[in-house]
Amino acid sequence: MRTESIKTYYTAMDSLEGRFDKEARKLRLAASDVDAYEAWKTKTRSDLSELIGIARMETCELLPERLESVQEDGYRREKWLIQTEPGVWMPFYLLLPGDLQPGEQRPCMIAAHGHGTGGKLSPAGRTDIPALAERIAREHTDYGVSFVRRGYVVLCPDARGFGERRESSGQGDEEDLFISSTCNQLNVMAIGLGLSLTGMWTWDLMRLLDYIGTRADIAQDRIGCCGLSGGGLQTLWLSALDERVSCAIVSGYFYGYKDALLKLYNCSCNYVPGLWERVDMGDIAALIAPRSLLIETGDQDPLNGERGVDNVVEQVDIAAQAYRLTGTEERLVHHIFAGGHVWNGDRTYDFAKRWLGR
Ligand SMILES: [Zn+2]
Repeated sequence: MRTESIKTYYTAMDSLEGRFDKEARKLRLAASDVDAYEAWKTKTRSDLSELIGIARMETCELLPERLESVQEDGYRREKWLIQTEPGVWMPFYLLLPGDLQPGEQRPCMIAAHGHGTGGKLSPAGRTDIPALAERIAREHTDYGVSFVRRGYVVLCPDARGFGERRESSGQGDEEDLFISSTCNQLNVMAIGLGLSLTGMWTWDLMRLLDYIGTRADIAQDRIGCCGLSGGGLQTLWLSALDERVSCAIVSGYFYGYKDALLKLYNCSCNYVPGLWERVDMGDIAALIAPRSLLIETGDQDPLNGERGVDNVVEQVDIAAQAYRLTGTEERLVHHIFAGGHVWNGDRTYDFAKRWLGR
């Protein structure tokens, strides 16, 4: 044996849990009428924008460029590139319904991806890539295709650190690299500059909304955003901070921070300095009201934490306060399905149809 056996470990996690109980949610939603809610929303949105680094992001010309165009069965898949910050480029797929007529306007859906999806490739249904096909079938992550087949214009971006946006430490065509990401590296580096990956992802999607604003074939008052897991994170934050999104669909990413991100150790791209001191996830969702929000939860999703769905319902209840105060309870739906960490979709497309059309 080249080491000494340690019999007792003196750890700090219990102390952090105790600190969470004392310090968390200083900006919690606690409004008793709609005016107090609106004041809370303005302050909290401003505080969180500062915290995640949105206020430090630099704008620039979008310089959109179409890189490729492929005809698929029932829709056209184009690849585009836009500049989101000076020198920062975001590729995305644009899925156009085959029956889109000249001069027509359609509702639109941003389909954000999570981890292990090859970035935009899974939401855009690239089952022709063997490394992705099985996982797409298992987790139903081709939701971008599900929306374009229902007549929506769909945008599937690569988030920073994924797909064609992997940094040099994670680039390569080998299967394990291909579906991996450099989100951890980017978040750690960003934090030292007062930024966060959450903020950079949200900013990039805000720039994608700027691009959407230039398209005559999209109805600007019918823009949705959806995603599973890390795509749920992106959807939650974009919809909370940008009112151009009128319908949000968050799948597999809605739970209390203590159980799900403090007691469980998830990918480090989930962590923003000081976030838990201010809000929990239900408070962020409360910023989306009175716009429509569907949350879908697998009752066996291990990411819900040790208390399972209880840790989700508590957060939905926080968000529900905002929908009650604004008299829009019918715009918040929590769909709990039997299953794990997958996109379910059983109520999703009717929900989107109700609030966005098609
Ligand atoms: Zn990550």
